[in-house]
Amino acid sequence: MQDRSRRRFLLSAGAALTSASLGDTSAMAAPRATPAPGADKALHLLMEGNAHFVKGAITHPGRTPEDFGPLAAGQNPIAAILGCADSRVPPEILFDLGIGDLFIIRVAGNYVNGAGASVKGSIEYAVAELGVSLVMVLGHSQCGAVKAAIQHLHDKDALPGAINDLVNTIKPAVLDSEHMPGDPLENAIRTNVLHSVNRLHSLEPVLAPAVRSGKLNIVGGVYDLATGKVDLLT
Ligand SMILES: [Zn+2]
Repeated sequence: MQDRSRRRFLLSAGAALTSASLGDTSAMAAPRATPAPGADKALHLLMEGNAHFVKGAITHPGRTPEDFGPLAAGQNPIAAILGCADSRVPPEILFDLGIGDLFIIRVAGNYVNGAGASVKGSIEYAVAELGVSLVMVLGHSQCGAVKAAIQHLHDKDALPGAINDLVNTIKPAVLDSEHMPGDPLENAIRTNVLHSVNRLHSLEPVLAPAVRSGKLNIVGGVYDLATGKVDLLT
């Protein structure tokens, strides 16, 4: 049995057991007891699913009423993803996972700093309340938000509305990667992901202590639009 199939089976078995123990009405409201997997296992599940996606061998898990029905009683995602809002980077699909598997925050440029309570609080909730042990910041090739930051690096007020603030937030990553060898856009995309990873690592009072105690791992990845592959950053 594949890892994800095994997990899904265990979740279903747990839900059935809860239902049998508590009766019809109370069982519907009972949270599932199955804990989120450890960080290593969660990362393995993500990368295994991505390998299926790259090969065109996706399994479309967790899409039937039998899958999503029991989730009304509670969620138990295996990881939290901070990804870009780009329409070409949907985490459940590119990791070949289903409903209830991933707690996802998507914002153009997948950045943390300046996003305030929305992004930080969402990730903290996933860790503190849902017991997620893996957070992945997921950038992607040809990211328009990073491109805009490069293009408007030295402009004072070049873009309308809040777009300007968004781009300004990404500019430090562009500046930090300016003198790296290689492709400037790819360097800025990787650096922007690592900036977000570093900010989450040091984010008190929820994430930083969890990282220090070994309960949480925060990793960065970059998705390639052309191949579908996620490469982990170290
Ligand atoms: Zn993007």
